Amino acid sequence: MSHNAFITDARIDGEDTGPLAGLTVGIKDNISTAGVRTTCGSATLAEYVPPYSATVVDRLLEAGATVVGKTNMDEFGMGTTTETSAFGPTENPAAEGRVPGGSSGGSAAAVAAGEADVALGSDTGGSVRCPAAFCGVVGIKPTYGLVSRYGLVAYANSLEQIGPLAPTVELAAEALDAIAGPDPRDATTRAPPEGTETDYPAAADADVEGMTVGVPTELVEGADDGVRTVFEDALDELRARGASVEAVSLPSVETAVQAYYVIAMSEASSNLARFDGVRYGTDGEDGEDGTEGNWNDSFAAAREAGFGEEVKRRVLLGTYALSAGYHDKYYKRAQDARAWVKRDFEEAFESVDLLASPTMPVPPFELGESLEDPLRMYLADANTVPVNLANLPAISVPAGETDEGPVGVQFVAPAFGEATLVRAGSALE
Ligand code: GLN
Repeated sequence: MSHNAFITDARIDGEDTGPLAGLTVGIKDNISTAGVRTTCGSATLAEYVPPYSATVVDRLLEAGATVVGKTNMDEFGMGTTTETSAFGPTENPAAEGRVPGGSSGGSAAAVAAGEADVALGSDTGGSVRCPAAFCGVVGIKPTYGLVSRYGLVAYANSLEQIGPLAPTVELAAEALDAIAGPDPRDATTRAPPEGTETDYPAAADADVEGMTVGVPTELVEGADDGVRTVFEDALDELRARGASVEAVSLPSVETAVQAYYVIAMSEASSNLARFDGVRYGTDGEDGEDGTEGNWNDSFAAAREAGFGEEVKRRVLLGTYALSAGYHDKYYKRAQDARAWVKRDFEEAFESVDLLASPTMPVPPFELGESLEDPLRMYLADANTVPVNLANLPAISVPAGETDEGPVGVQFVAPAFGEATLVRAGSALE
């Protein structure tokens, strides 16, 4: 049965040997693959074939994996359901009639349906963790700078990281191991500090004895009852394995969704300027409507024809937030909130080893349900976006189900604490 997990089927063979030999991978369609079209889920790039591959793709191939296709996604990563794709929605293989989450919904669905052993997604504000939670698979959002973004089509570059999705924590850790590490082609990458535990697969030992897990009350209070019940059971499991659980407070997270959307849309308005029908993207009705020779009209026509509604909304709002006179009112205040979120996390990590919360406060939406109400969709990101604002690593692991579908638990660690996330995540399997 097809869930529309892939936009393009393609086969790129990797090396014969390596830690991922024999495994198939799906690649989110905003990650460049030489010779294979890379659409970002957008009509404007429906025919775009990149001349080079992203560093992460090269690294997976070197590790022995075989690419089996490009996965469906919200247009340019803008969404929480994979319904803003120009190539139609993906259905959740783990919850019939419901969305797979987004924006990396095709990647999560491909893994959940067994159409790929592993997949890559990108996480700007939760786009790896949300679909992992909704489809009942594992997803890791790495520390900003651990994984190269070279070849990732940018949505909001100060927030996003590429991360793996897999059926088990150990397999996700193996994929992370293959793609992590500095890249001379991405100046924002850096090596973990000396002495950091970086053998991620070996950390999948479920040994949480003596670990202190903080639960930010703000990230649990608003969650649905069914989600909370599954989350509380997961905490009991951690206690049974010798971890201690304590409540902590992150007051700044109340501002995180607003701050995230101002920053993400502002960066998007700049990053998407290249899709003007000249540099990138299909052109519009150039000439036929008198736009011939007028670049302003010609760019407008290209964007009108090439972009979907959500992308247009964000480019317009982002341009507005950055414009003279409004910059201080919106963008600058969002940056202040971002700094506050970072400080709150730092303080919390003075007393706990990691933080736990439901990944998503709600179960998977029904297909079509949330498209009419963008604000509701944005608010569903409440638990994931603080992590991107603070550039921290996080994992989502399946923890159980409600009648409406799978529930994921999110762990957040200090920068470069991926091994701790893998350890805690494996304790819930
Ligand atoms: N749902 C968030 C957004 O729409 C997250 C997207 C992402 O991480 N790419 O911006």
